Amino acid sequence: MTDQFDLVIRNATVIDGTRAPRFQADIAINAAKIARIGKVKQKGKREIDAAGKIAAPGFIDAHTHDDRLMLSSPEMAPKVSQGVTTVVAGNCGISLAPAPKGMRPPVPVPMDLLDDEGGWFRFETFKKYVQTLKRKPAATNCALLVGHSMLRVQTMDDTSRMATRAEIKKMQDMVDEAMRAGAIGVSTGLYYEPARAAPAAEVIEICRPLAEHGGIYCTHMRDEGDRVVESLEESFRTGRELGVPVVISHHKVVGKSNHGRSAETLPIIQRAMRSQKIGLDCYPYDASSTILSASRAANATKVLVTWSRPHPEVVGMELGEIKKNFGLSVYELLPAGAIYFSMDENDVQRILAFEQTMIGSDGLPHDTAPHPRLWGTFPRVLGHYSRDLNLFPLETAVHKMTGLTAKTFGLADRGVLKPGYAADITIFDPKVDETATFAKPIQAAKGIETVIVNGKIVWREGKPTGARPGQILQRSAR
Ligand SMILES: [Zn+2]
Repeated sequence: MTDQFDLVIRNATVIDGTRAPRFQADIAINAAKIARIGKVKQKGKREIDAAGKIAAPGFIDAHTHDDRLMLSSPEMAPKVSQGVTTVVAGNCGISLAPAPKGMRPPVPVPMDLLDDEGGWFRFETFKKYVQTLKRKPAATNCALLVGHSMLRVQTMDDTSRMATRAEIKKMQDMVDEAMRAGAIGVSTGLYYEPARAAPAAEVIEICRPLAEHGGIYCTHMRDEGDRVVESLEESFRTGRELGVPVVISHHKVVGKSNHGRSAETLPIIQRAMRSQKIGLDCYPYDASSTILSASRAANATKVLVTWSRPHPEVVGMELGEIKKNFGLSVYELLPAGAIYFSMDENDVQRILAFEQTMIGSDGLPHDTAPHPRLWGTFPRVLGHYSRDLNLFPLETAVHKMTGLTAKTFGLADRGVLKPGYAADITIFDPKVDETATFAKPIQAAKGIETVIVNGKIVWREGKPTGARPGQILQRSAR
């Protein structure tokens, strides 16, 4: 028996991630695991007094675009500052690998969200990306998806058409390679140009290797507006035909004419959940963010520019203001990114409160003036939505960012505080709050005190410690 633990957290209010009511306890950690929860008599080599604070499982960001951030800013400040200890990367059909042909500027939309210059698309195979991440780990753990649009761009000379049989076979092989190298599944971004011409049947064929490898299918659907129901049906069908779980990414209903339709989509999702495995995530804002496009802008009441390659001077400004002051049209700003105010707050709250909804930031870490969800998502759910609006109890808020997410993605030994589980722990003040705003988006949250990944402290006293204990997580549930 150990007579001394590596780390003991004393007098914490424990919210364990299962939605069980909070309780008082100490938490002992040995190596990278939770050794004991309860009254801990032995001393720790290091001790943290958490009196008056909450200790929860480290948050799992269900939806990120952190593929490159893990390499270019491995301290992962936007995430660990919120209490996030694991990120699911490679979403919306966009992943940094595989890139056997590399990528030269102009990098196709929306791949430019990860790197608009192209220098980071340097991993010929998924394995090379995984090996690099293992050699130079980030502060957080990750679970990796391989992006379907990436496969199309790397395989086809023209992505505005369906793939041929030979191209499908190539993409299938790339999925197989990625799964063998450590991916947990495939993501699609069927809304975006490089994937739009791919019918469901093509996606299903490309994703065939998922069944054999126990993978998961995550989708930024073809349509989140007028045809949202058809898109849900398409996503369910893909999951059914593949025999794999489906995750509906950043579920929302976009456009004024669709406001209120979450009352229609959520029961459809709930019904489908009875016969197949389905998950969904959501970010806690009524504005979305992606690349700038004229059609999307036409559907929004207000548009903020988050980055612009030819006109960096307009970043952070509103589209109408840019037109008035600089005489610049949408087309003259491209390639660029934007924030679109196009959702209804009632829908956001209804989707967030839905029992199976996980929290995912969808943060865009390389934008010059990013959507505040990048730095604010998790504290906003804990503070604004749970504590201030009382949308759900704190135990439920934590579950939506920990236990539920680990279960949905099949991340064993994560997401719950339990002896034998990985020591991913976030200690926060009940007065936790976001500080990131649309006007000042790059700001660390208030009240996230200590963040521990695999037993190592990665965030303390308002800054990263420099530790990089992140691991690449596998899917274990089938
Ligand atoms: Zn997306």
